[in-house]
Amino acid sequence: MKTINYTPYRASKSFNSRVRFLIFHYTAGGFAGSLATLTGPSASAHYLVPDISDPSYQQAGHTAQEVFNLVDETQRAWHAGVSQWGNRNSLNDTSIGVEIVNRATFKDGVFNFPPYHPEQIRVIGELALNILARYPDIGPTQVLGHSDIAIGRKSDPGPMFPWQALSLQGIGAWYEDATRDELLQGYNACGMPPRSELLKLFKAYGYDTSKATDDAGYRQLVRAFQLHFRPENYDGEMDAQTAANLAALVSKYFP
Ligand SMILES: [Zn+2]
Repeated sequence: MKTINYTPYRASKSFNSRVRFLIFHYTAGGFAGSLATLTGPSASAHYLVPDISDPSYQQAGHTAQEVFNLVDETQRAWHAGVSQWGNRNSLNDTSIGVEIVNRATFKDGVFNFPPYHPEQIRVIGELALNILARYPDIGPTQVLGHSDIAIGRKSDPGPMFPWQALSLQGIGAWYEDATRDELLQGYNACGMPPRSELLKLFKAYGYDTSKATDDAGYRQLVRAFQLHFRPENYDGEMDAQTAANLAALVSKYFP
């Protein structure tokens, strides 16, 4: 039988990394169940960040804050599902997915978003910086939540996710306060841009606006944005502050 001898000679300059996006999720369940789901046949993620206060984590014999690497980064994990950002869809192909144990619930039409454990926030920062250092193609606006890329279908990682604090560490995007305040003053004095203009800004930033053709679709889009960039109120109503945050982001990253 013939065998092939592979000689490593990695001098090619014309290739790309698969990875363009870093996507955060919450599990909406405890450690044991989440680990079972993410190692089962229908869903996976590259990383799972447990919660040290979760009873099933402690029962499994863990005491320290760990990060589980479930899928090699060179492989596609199944975490994003039907998804869209900019001109790309099916973001499993081009992303690294990080699942975080958090018991967010949706009951009788109402979401409850518990805070993330400070130890989780610490290791999420370390993990993200480690990943971003290895994938320079992941720009600030390509560090996203599941809710950003699956509008109306997903709400994770939710309004308790520390996007602003992470941005101060160099992870992901955030607006400049001065720009936002100036825009907000203008909107308060002279009125907000019309919906058609705001839709252009959402699209310029990367959001999928294709389903925002009626009031219900627009509300879902606004809510997705607010979950990430205006977490103190994510009711889906466009207001001057939401518009100013959006316009400030576009002027910073897509001038
Ligand atoms: Zn998710």
